[in-house]
Amino acid sequence: QTFSETGLKPEILESIEKIGFIKPTPIQAETIPFLLNSEEDLVAMAQTGTGKTAAFGLPVLHKMDLNAKGVQAIVLCPTRELCLQITADLNTYANNLPVSVVPVYGGAPIHNQIIAIRKKCDIVVGTPGRVNDLIRRDKLDLSSIRFLILDEADEMLKMGFKEEMDAIMGETPDTKQTLLFSATMPPDINRMAGKHMNKPKTISV
Ligand code: AMP
Repeated sequence: QTFSETGLKPEILESIEKIGFIKPTPIQAETIPFLLNSEEDLVAMAQTGTGKTAAFGLPVLHKMDLNAKGVQAIVLCPTRELCLQITADLNTYANNLPVSVVPVYGGAPIHNQIIAIRKKCDIVVGTPGRVNDLIRRDKLDLSSIRFLILDEADEMLKMGFKEEMDAIMGETPDTKQTLLFSATMPPDINRMAGKHMNKPKTISV
C-alpha cells in the first residue's frame, strides 16, 4: 500500500514525498485508512519510533476544516521536548496547507503562548499542566475541538497528569473523536479509555 492509495489530499502527499516517506509504517497502514473513513475512537498501542506522529497527524490534517475559526484539534503529550517534536512534524506535513499548529508547555513564559493562540490556532499541542492553566485563564477555548489525541498516555499518567487530563477532556465536546496512543496498557489507561472514550477500536503494532 502506498500513501496515495490512502486518499490523503495532494497537498499532504506532496509534503511527505518531499521528506522522503515512501510507504506507510505498519501503524500508519492501520490508522490512516481507519481515521479517514471513521469517526470512531481509537486506542493504539505503539512505541515511539513507529511513526505514530504521522499516524494521527496525516489523517487529522486531512480532515481539518480550512475555513473554521476555533481550535479543531488538541494533542496532549508528556514533555516539552515531545511537544516541540510533534509540532515540528505536523508543520512539516502541513507545509502546503493553511493550518497553524501552536505548541504550549510549562517552564516557558505563558504570555507568548497566549498571543500565539489568539493569532491563529487550528491545532494546539501541549503538556497537560500548561493546557489546563490556559483553559483556567480563559485563554484557550476547547469548545470547537473535533479531534483529541493523547500521545504517550501511559507516560502522562506516570508523570501525575491524570487530574489535568480529566479536566481538559471535560472541556471538549462529546462529539469529538478521541485517539489514544500508548506504549503500554496498564489498568489506569484502560480506566481512562473506559471513562472518556466511546467503544474505541483497538490496534496494536
Ligand atoms: P515517531 O514514531 O512519530 O516519533 O516517528 C519516528 C521517525 O520515523 C520520525 O523521524 C519520522 O519522521 C519517521 N517516519 C514516520 N513515518 C515514516 C514513513 N512512513 N517512512 C519513513 N519514515 C517515517
